[in-house]
Amino acid sequence: MTAYLFTPPEIASLSVRGTSQRFAVNRIFCVGRNYHAHAAEMGRSVDKSVDPAFYFTKSPQTLVPSGATVPYPPGTQNYHYEMELVVAIGSAGFRLSQEQAHQVIYGYASGLDMTRRDLQLFARDKGRPWDLGKDFEQSAICSEIVPMPGVVLEQAGIAMEVNGVTRQNSNIDKLIWNVREIIADLSRFYHLQAGDLIYTGTPEGVGAVVPGDRITGRVEGVAEIALTIGPAE
Ligand code: MN
Repeated sequence: MTAYLFTPPEIASLSVRGTSQRFAVNRIFCVGRNYHAHAAEMGRSVDKSVDPAFYFTKSPQTLVPSGATVPYPPGTQNYHYEMELVVAIGSAGFRLSQEQAHQVIYGYASGLDMTRRDLQLFARDKGRPWDLGKDFEQSAICSEIVPMPGVVLEQAGIAMEVNGVTRQNSNIDKLIWNVREIIADLSRFYHLQAGDLIYTGTPEGVGAVVPGDRITGRVEGVAEIALTIGPAE
């Protein structure tokens, strides 16, 4: 037995539909600007012929299961939701072609990439890293994992509500880089491993939430997700 000076953090994990075995989370990758209408609302445009996809990461310790209440986070006046399709990787893959990409898909989930928008945009506009805006405590909300081994989702409604009012409503067929392209591209830079999650980006309609708000959402055919915003600590 390894002796540690202090108790190490628990392994982050998610429940899996249909089994009591949990999905141990390795890394959380997130795709930036992957729907044209969302890029536009952020004041940017994407030209796939010249712009490569880009990514940021969240620590696995930021993961929160659907149904939770999270405190309004510190350091922000503009706390935003981003509803996203999440790909769950189930086996190792490196330098995969698009044709091979499905081989590493374990399943899918519905996710919320919670964002301190003011801090993200301040960093973006100064050319600084996005960590303070994106990789903060309890910022990666995820539903149960739904096993769909080898299945490439190409079309599914993606929608979310705040207090029952629809705020985002789109389809994953509007992804700029689709599931095959994202997996193949990421695998050029990382050895993908079982337990990796990929948040694929959010459609238009992002906005702020405040304490007391309740978020509900779903990717059709995948899973529902819910989150309640609690008071600031
Ligand atoms: Mn996002």
